[in-house]
Amino acid sequence: MTVTEAPAGDAPAPEPYFTREAGRWTHQWKELYEEVITTGLCTGCSACVISCPHDVIGYEHQEGGYKPFHLEDELGASDCIHGQKGCTSCTRACPRFRDWEPTADEHLFGRDRETEEIHGIAEQVLLVRASDDHVHQTGQDGGLVSAILIWLLDEGYIDGALVSGLEGDGSTWKAKPMVATTKDEVLATAGSRYTYSANWLAYDEAREKGLENLALVGMGCQTSASPVMWARKIGKVGKPIKFNIGLLCSKTFDDRIFDELFDAKYGIKRETIKKMNIKGVFQIWTHDDEYHEVPLKECHAWTREGCMQCPDFAAEHADISTGGIGKFNDHTLTVVRTELGREVITRMIKAGVIEVKPAEEDPAALALMDRLSRVSRNRWPDTAIGFPKRMPPPPPKKKKAAAPAADAGPKPAPSDQPEGGEPTKADADLKP
Ligand SMILES: Cc1cc2nc3c(=O)[nH]c(=O)nc-3n(C[C@H](O)[C@H](O)[C@H](O)COP(=O)(O)OP(=O)(O)OC[C@H]3O[C@@H](n4cnc5c(N)ncnc54)[C@H](O)[C@@H]3O)c2cc1C
Ligand code: SF4
Ligand code: SF4
Repeated sequence: MTVTEAPAGDAPAPEPYFTREAGRWTHQWKELYEEVITTGLCTGCSACVISCPHDVIGYEHQEGGYKPFHLEDELGASDCIHGQKGCTSCTRACPRFRDWEPTADEHLFGRDRETEEIHGIAEQVLLVRASDDHVHQTGQDGGLVSAILIWLLDEGYIDGALVSGLEGDGSTWKAKPMVATTKDEVLATAGSRYTYSANWLAYDEAREKGLENLALVGMGCQTSASPVMWARKIGKVGKPIKFNIGLLCSKTFDDRIFDELFDAKYGIKRETIKKMNIKGVFQIWTHDDEYHEVPLKECHAWTREGCMQCPDFAAEHADISTGGIGKFNDHTLTVVRTELGREVITRMIKAGVIEVKPAEEDPAALALMDRLSRVSRNRWPDTAIGFPKRMPPPPPKKKKAAAPAADAGPKPAPSDQPEGGEPTKADADLKP
């Protein structure tokens, strides 16, 4: 079925088109390569890699890469002999192929989203922190993601989680997909890295360890894969994922940013870095207790290619999505999306492992989430199926209030500064 709707307002051609898939699913690597991998839609999430039953899709981990590629020479890079024979697993897994957005919405929520639901379908937005001080302080913001993983392990919902750690002793700051099965492993991998970690790639290790019930932690590009796989009936690959935790995200940076910007211009060597955060500026704390700020404008040149056209800021297909925007620096902004997400949060509140405030205590954070969601949605190209471009008209522009100087306040401590914060001019810099 093809439905063509008129573009909003007086927007010129090309008209967006809205095509839903119907009939038998026959799409294979050839179409994935032509429509996603070579058009810039591919985010490098790696869902196609772990889904391939013939193990013929590799993944480019190196700087400038973060993309899948075909390992067999027989038909060249753009075609697959197994696809020719009827294998369709990679396109069933891909959360950027064809009508991925309404497919995931329908599967998770049983309905299409309304145009006004600019940050995705949500039951509730809350401000949450882990009650345990150690968990709270180890986490990037409120430590909620770590608290959830620990609670899900304790309660038997999961026996492992696909997360991101750092390779080796951490001094290279190279993010690495990892499996966490204990509280210690969860806490060892807490905090945010702003380079890409394709956490799905830890899936095979989890299965080899005999783990059957997994949580996935990842940005929207990764957490949309699970409902897409389930809806497109990929089979056993999708079954172990029982809980999806999303991370709000505007972009990730190529690993080259460490040498080519932080070191070359600011003299900050990767091995000296203790913690990073983004709040209007790129904040870096070093082991000698120094604090550095790098303007986001200078970082844009190192934006990963896979993020340039990504329309999903708010991790819209997770059970629970989490972010650092808002005035409560020690809380995680928490979007509860699914029934399962609500069940988990409700039980965690009852068990006393998290403390919660209503998000209405920080209306600016909610407005900023919508604003950043709009910025991301505007990146989706006109040449692709138009669902992610559906948005209400932008709110009327307000007169600008004078923004405080970036260095007006005291030096922030590493544990108390999240991304976002009050909307400022600097937030506009999140745009690539
Ligand atoms: C690349 C990136 C960009 C982000 N951008 C924004 C933003 O623009 N605005 C915003 O409000 N929030 C953003 N966040 C989310 C924010 O930084 C926190 O992750 C979120 O608020 C949860 O905090 P917490 O204390 O509850 O999580 P924690 O308890 O600290 O747990 C964080 C979890 O994230 C995983 N993780 C860390 N780095 C990565 C990575 N690179 N890839 C995949 N998983 C990872 C860890 O393994 C851990 O399980 C971003 C996060 C990341 C990783
Ligand atoms: S977006 Fe993910 S699933 Fe799709 S082609 Fe890229 S790596 Fe594969
Ligand atoms: S902007 Fe974030 S969610 Fe989107 S592709 Fe990049 S890393 Fe993934």
